[in-house]
Amino acid sequence: MTNASSSPAIDPTRLWASLTEISRFGATVRGGLDRLALGDHDRAARDYLVAQARHHGYDVIVDALGNIFITRAGARPDLTPVLLGSHLDSQPSGGRFDGTYGVIAGLEVLRALDDADVTTLRPVVLANWTNEEGARFSPSMLGSAVYAGRHDAGAALARSDADGATIGAELARIGYAGTGAGPARVHRSLELHIEQGPVLEDRGLDIGVVTGVYGIHWLDVVVRGRSGHAGTTPAGSRQDALVAASRIVLAVDELTAAEPELRATTGEVRVWPNSRNAIPGEVRLALDLRHPAEETLARVERALSEQVAEIAARSGVTATVTPVLSQPPTQFDGGTVALVREVAAERGYSATDLVSGAGHDSVHLAHVTRAGMIFIPCVGGVSHREDEDIRPEWALTGADVLLHATVRAAAEES
Ligand SMILES: [Zn+2]
Repeated sequence: MTNASSSPAIDPTRLWASLTEISRFGATVRGGLDRLALGDHDRAARDYLVAQARHHGYDVIVDALGNIFITRAGARPDLTPVLLGSHLDSQPSGGRFDGTYGVIAGLEVLRALDDADVTTLRPVVLANWTNEEGARFSPSMLGSAVYAGRHDAGAALARSDADGATIGAELARIGYAGTGAGPARVHRSLELHIEQGPVLEDRGLDIGVVTGVYGIHWLDVVVRGRSGHAGTTPAGSRQDALVAASRIVLAVDELTAAEPELRATTGEVRVWPNSRNAIPGEVRLALDLRHPAEETLARVERALSEQVAEIAARSGVTATVTPVLSQPPTQFDGGTVALVREVAAERGYSATDLVSGAGHDSVHLAHVTRAGMIFIPCVGGVSHREDEDIRPEWALTGADVLLHATVRAAAEES
């Protein structure tokens, strides 16, 4: 800080009230959220955020992808800003805190700086990223990808939902097809988010210091056997693709025995002809493999391909393994990770390092700035569900770490 009348502090009542207020937009009867990107509820939540920003006198810029950038000025406008933020869109049956918590806590950080009459050296910018979830428009994390130069803006605006509505048209319809631009360069970025997993709550910890994000490999496995009559084909004459595919599903699950940090899932099974009295002739499996280390992912993928070939030979079928997505792991900036760790300790919170199994906008930001993330627990590790929940004291803890990490980052001269 360059100037402060008092030490800034999060107002827990105001933070929780804002979280409650913005949860109205897209609220479901079961306490969740249906706020798909660029729908009417997303517009209402955006309008709420922008109205809050204008009320407090912050500068509001919207870019071509509808990303919103809210700037609280610093003493040195020539210095690159500290960037906070997350996303206001949700899954169709999503929770109230995934993304929204990071945006509202960022707003509360700006208000806390106002209350304490703090002028930071660097500007602080709060972002709301468009279409993080990817539930309505694919791919996910699209607004931050375009901002970071990792996805073409024109191609992104042309992406359409299941009904053929494009991102460009929907942005224009809801009034968020902006002409501005986000900060050209950023000093550090900090994204506060719920963990979306059970580790922090299970271990009774306050804060997750996020060191990176798991790499993701998607594989399609196609198993081809021979379809036939369920009643007339004796056991020895069958080439049952589903029996072979089932052995592959088990092999995928067993990969984690040797690699405890690996997440290995067969999430989709499609069977042809999918008829009770026909032997399955073809099965397609959709696999999701995640690990913090790219070498491990590559090694696991090779080992699995060998196992699939062995299972196919043993089962009298053929099988192919095709990679369809390879997203390398993200390592967050060492300095930003250390900053979060130090601030959590200074503020007296228990914390552990975590690698995120879920993707976040910060994956893209890590390509253009010194990115980092802060996690708080969520009840039962539940997320992407209507019963996703956090406790008000957890909301306060995370916002407090975000506030003090922001103050420190915004005071750095280089
Ligand atoms: Zn999220």
